[in-house]
Amino acid sequence: MPIKKPLKLGIEIGIAILLVLGLLVILGWYTGIVIFIQINPQFVPMQFNTALGFVVTSLAMGALVNHRRDITKYTGLLVGILGGMTLIQHIFGVNLYIDELFMKHYITMATSAPGRMAPNTALNFILVGMTLFCLGQKKLTINHLIFSSLLGSLTLGLSMVALFGYMSRVEAAYSWGNLTKMAIHTAIGFMVVGVLLILETRMLSRQIRQKLPSFTLPITFSFLGFIVTLSLWQALYFSELQINRQYGIKTDNYVATGILIFGGLFSILLGIATWLAIKSQEQLQENKLAQAQIVALNQQLEKLSYLDGLTEIPNRRAFDIAIERELARAVRYQYPIAIIFIDIDYFKAFNDYYGHQLGDACLQLVASAISEVLHRKTDMVARYGGEEFVMLLPDVNLEGVEKVAAMTLQAIADLQIPHEASKVSSYVTISAGLSVCIPDNETSPKALVRLADQALYKAKMNGRNCIKTP
Ligand code: GH3
Ligand code: MG
Ligand code: MG
Repeated sequence: MPIKKPLKLGIEIGIAILLVLGLLVILGWYTGIVIFIQINPQFVPMQFNTALGFVVTSLAMGALVNHRRDITKYTGLLVGILGGMTLIQHIFGVNLYIDELFMKHYITMATSAPGRMAPNTALNFILVGMTLFCLGQKKLTINHLIFSSLLGSLTLGLSMVALFGYMSRVEAAYSWGNLTKMAIHTAIGFMVVGVLLILETRMLSRQIRQKLPSFTLPITFSFLGFIVTLSLWQALYFSELQINRQYGIKTDNYVATGILIFGGLFSILLGIATWLAIKSQEQLQENKLAQAQIVALNQQLEKLSYLDGLTEIPNRRAFDIAIERELARAVRYQYPIAIIFIDIDYFKAFNDYYGHQLGDACLQLVASAISEVLHRKTDMVARYGGEEFVMLLPDVNLEGVEKVAAMTLQAIADLQIPHEASKVSSYVTISAGLSVCIPDNETSPKALVRLADQALYKAKMNGRNCIKTP
């Protein structure tokens, strides 16, 4: 199984947590296992609709991961409507008959209306629904993603403060006046949702192959800081106000004010730090890219340095390296190694007669025709110099080498390049000298080449356009 990318894996785990949370609470409501609904008798229960909202949200998010944005759009809308209708009920004091649609409530602790979701929970669902609706758009743009990232951090911030309220017993952090309060596991659920929304905007930017601007994450984090600061401040402010009213004393709101100032500063710094981290990460990636380019360029240069500029076949340098390697191998495994030395006949005359430009063109034609004769991967041909070529053939016998040499001569004859100044043919011809031996430790590349060169001299002496052995 391929290893999943960490981002996608993280998102899938988050979605699973959310789904399980919602299903467990729904199960709790249907079966009467109160611990799922109300994890501590002192805490408020999670309402049925809230659990349902989490399940639908997890489905909408799952659809996003699986490239089904159309599903996300409408399920997101559903979540938003659920939250919106609940909030309307709270604000206008009306009953739209959605609270006990699927379940008759039986835990009434801290509820202002039977079975009704808390107003801050409803607000969170509106935010989540809006974000999912936005992410579900067919033509998704970077602006959608930035907006979603910010709304995700808003959800995360609000739920973080609610959880903080439970831990520090500041009730105002998870309740609005005397209205239904948010349950602790609802707060945790929304934290997961908030993180998921921020992560999903990152994943979607990859899906639509558009890079989120560098400022997105810094602004998202900064915004999160400000949301936490502001809602914490208002929670502390109201709880102090309550205490003041209760005991009839007047206190200064030092803690609340302090949180406002330090939280604000911290949020700005958080944004700057994230921005710097992202910038250095980008710089690092740029450096890596540049390095890779240099390596590729070097490899290309190295390849070029082993090729002949005119004929584009291996050059003398490449041949010198290859013969060292092949000779060592032939000594070790004791098989024959052969060299065919090739020289164009009367080429000086060709140049004088047709000019250097046609001379160059002729060299190119000859080089490519010679290359095509060889088929074994271990064979090679190189331009040795001027109008001389050399073939290196490991593991062949004399018969085989002679065959290759004859084929090469034929290949050049078949080109039928006119050569009026030649004394041996009216077309361009070549002469070849070959040497084969089973080398021992004393055999040097130079000796091998010298033997073939001597054979070539013989071929020239013998009237050219022929093949000779030493
Ligand atoms: P032979 O049949 O004895 O080999 O006679 P040749 O004229 O071919 O021999 P020689 O070695 O005297 O001449 C080689 C000529 O090859 C010299 C030069 O004019 C030509 N030559 C060498 N390199 C190049 C090149 O890169 N381009 C061109 N156009 N000509 C070249
Ligand atoms: Mg020559
Ligand atoms: Mg020549």
